[in-house]
Amino acid sequence: MRLALFGPPGAGKGTQAAKIVAAWRIPHISTGDMLRAEVRSGSELGGRVKAIMDSGHLVPDELIAEVVAARLKQPDAAPGFLLDGFPRTPRQVELLDGILAPANLDRMILLDVPDAVVEQRLLGRAVTGDGGQVRADDNLETIRKRLAVYRGETMPVAEVYQRRGLLARVDGTGTVEQVFARIADLLGAGGR
Ligand code: AMP
Repeated sequence: MRLALFGPPGAGKGTQAAKIVAAWRIPHISTGDMLRAEVRSGSELGGRVKAIMDSGHLVPDELIAEVVAARLKQPDAAPGFLLDGFPRTPRQVELLDGILAPANLDRMILLDVPDAVVEQRLLGRAVTGDGGQVRADDNLETIRKRLAVYRGETMPVAEVYQRRGLLARVDGTGTVEQVFARIADLLGAGGR
């Protein structure tokens, strides 16, 4: 199953992604996690993207597509995968189409969470951290920037998959388990 998880920062994508990949036994391909790992490792790529990430802007489309293409070539991604945080611009959709051709994504799952809830969650994460660690890009100014980038550059991606008939909206409010149950219903019992 070739899936992508979509939604604003703070929608709970990371949490739900972990549960989906465990149940469906597919790799979790999070571009944010991959980029943070590059920054931590001190690689040349990490050096190039750190300032962009810290500011809440997006790294260049071609660069992130190269990272994803290399990851999708790994044998564990052959039977299926869950993309988290990609594609994030209409240009990234085109690049992903090229990477996957002649196949396509089976489904894009949009985690629907009202703006007010997202902002509250992100602010909470900025203070207490996520799993004990406060991310460098979880501060008020960057959170505002990331939400603006999501609304301006990323939301059109959902429209593309909507037009293709591949977008599934899931109510992202409630407990982690409630949200996961909705996703599992949508995907069918295959992984459970
Ligand atoms: P995330 O963990 O998905 O919120 O990503 C954290 C940061 O990594 C983003 O604010 C961007 O700077 C960068 N990033 C992650 N995924 C992408 C992507 N698909 N395109 C461009 N930048 C990305």
